Amino acid sequence: MSQGSLFIVSAPSGGGKTSLTRALVPALAGHGVTATISVSFTTRAPRPGETDGVHYHFIDEAGFVDKIGRGDFLEHAHVFGRRYGTGLSETRALLDAGHDVILDIDWQGARQVKREWPQAIGIFIVPPSVAELERRLRGRSQDSEDVIAERMREAHEEISHHAEYDYLIVNENFEQALAEMAAIFLEPRLRSQRQLARHGELVAQLLAPGASGGA
Ligand code: GDP
Ligand code: ADP
Ligand code: 5GP
Repeated sequence: MSQGSLFIVSAPSGGGKTSLTRALVPALAGHGVTATISVSFTTRAPRPGETDGVHYHFIDEAGFVDKIGRGDFLEHAHVFGRRYGTGLSETRALLDAGHDVILDIDWQGARQVKREWPQAIGIFIVPPSVAELERRLRGRSQDSEDVIAERMREAHEEISHHAEYDYLIVNENFEQALAEMAAIFLEPRLRSQRQLARHGELVAQLLAPGASGGA
């Protein structure tokens, strides 16, 4: 089985990373592509409705520092005063199982991953306006006013790193942004060389003597 590809998705908080990547997984499954969203480790508290092991692996500061010491992270960073990190062995296992792996991480993490894994594909998502970003953060109704204000202050810093990514998606219309994300995942698989590895038999049959009108 061929190794999966590693995709990094970043956006300012409220930009739509979570909702787009969650919708992307079933959309890609319809094309026969198995994509998995990596579950990060974090020291922040769970939001209402978040489950340990599903949305994040919630761990305390001491546990996180311990994992850094053991070299357990592909990347880790401080975001909004909390620690976030991607498990190294978890990511390797998914890629080796042929899954495309989606890392929903910030720009600091994206940089570290690109350094370790230059073939990783980076996607940056932006909202259609600053006002709409704030409206969506509020509409999510999961963060306090203080947290929303902090995330709006950090949005400029996150967006300033857009050029470090391979692709830029404007998340105005959700369905359009989703289709554009899917195109990025599907394009490498549609290249002739990879298609021939899967469909070589079909092409050979189409070209067999007597199969069509050719000489
Ligand atoms: P949301 O993305 O606004 O819903 O907020 P989250 O709490 O899920 O994520 C907070 C920040 O941490 C975002 O900037 C994420 O990109 C970043 N983040 C999440 N997981 C990771 C990770 O595994 N590694 C790194 N470096 N950053 C992460
Ligand atoms: P992030 O994970 O980047 O912080 P979310 O996926 O949580 O962002 O999106 C923030 C909020 O905006 C959510 O309530 C989500 O449903 C909403 N949202 C995302 N994309 C769109 C869109 N294109 N149009 C309207 N609302 C959106
Ligand atoms: P939230 O606290 O809203 O779930 O996430 C806030 C930010 O942390 C998001 O921008 C998200 O991309 C980032 N983030 C989440 N997990 C990781 C991670 O494992 N590594 C890094 N670097 N950032 C992460």
